[in-house]
Amino acid sequence: MSPTPPAPLTLLCVHPHPDDESIACGGVLARAADAGIRTVVVTCTAGEEGENLAGIHLGAEDLVSHRRRELAAALAELGVDQHHQLGYRDSGMLGSPGNQHPDSFHAADPAMAARKLATILRAERPQVVVSDDEQGTYGHPDHVKAHQVTVRAVVLAADAAAPLPAAPWQVVKRYSHTLAKGRLLAAHRALLAAGLASPFGDAAFGGVEDLPLGTPDARITTEVDVGPWLARKRAAMAAHRSQIGADSFFLNTPEELAASLFATEQFILESGVLGGEERPEPDLFAGLVTAPPQPPRAVGQ
Ligand SMILES: [Zn+2]
Repeated sequence: MSPTPPAPLTLLCVHPHPDDESIACGGVLARAADAGIRTVVVTCTAGEEGENLAGIHLGAEDLVSHRRRELAAALAELGVDQHHQLGYRDSGMLGSPGNQHPDSFHAADPAMAARKLATILRAERPQVVVSDDEQGTYGHPDHVKAHQVTVRAVVLAADAAAPLPAAPWQVVKRYSHTLAKGRLLAAHRALLAAGLASPFGDAAFGGVEDLPLGTPDARITTEVDVGPWLARKRAAMAAHRSQIGADSFFLNTPEELAASLFATEQFILESGVLGGEERPEPDLFAGLVTAPPQPPRAVGQ
């Protein structure tokens, strides 16, 4: 008899800044919520160093409280059940003065940050945890730190000897979200062919080896179809209006093209066992649940 996972099934995603949850995991969060899986987002910083890209008139409100409201709207769009702030300050891009701020996530004591996150893990008891890959997706110090802190926190949460509140909790599967190089290159070429802006400008890459970021396709263990949830993901991204400017390639890509280019989110299983026989694994909860989530019903059905 195989052990049944403790109820309720929970997905917990750790993200450095407000907006990363929607950009990186918006699809899997909405998909999980529709499948009846509890979803939890941990945001490590308040996004203090983000730029008001859209030039929004903030009036008396500062950017941090504005971003807090944008984040709340995005989380509501994705049906996220629970949200935690880890309480650090945005470090800014690598080498910027924000890196040295004593409250910055970059400067934070990794052991202390891991204890804070492990305490949340013990309280929320997620079977599946997702954070950045070890490159921090595109090298931002807060994204790299989110990866490092999550790795430590998952181990710590399970350690019965750790001086933490609540009972130890063993996460079953820990993933890094990442971008598969093959899909990145295909998207870049398709956007240019359609006369649209690519995040890589008009670079003429010879092959995936020329891409400045991304993960070799062979390392992708898990690729989740988020096509039916793409509209929700885009709406959540659009809620972060101050960060995702009008020139965002993701939001500007026509719906039909976006459906083919951004139809999946890609992951690397870092600890735990892949579920089922299919490779890449089609769902973060593969092996933990048997029925795949159904696409949302269209209005009027
Ligand atoms: Zn970020």
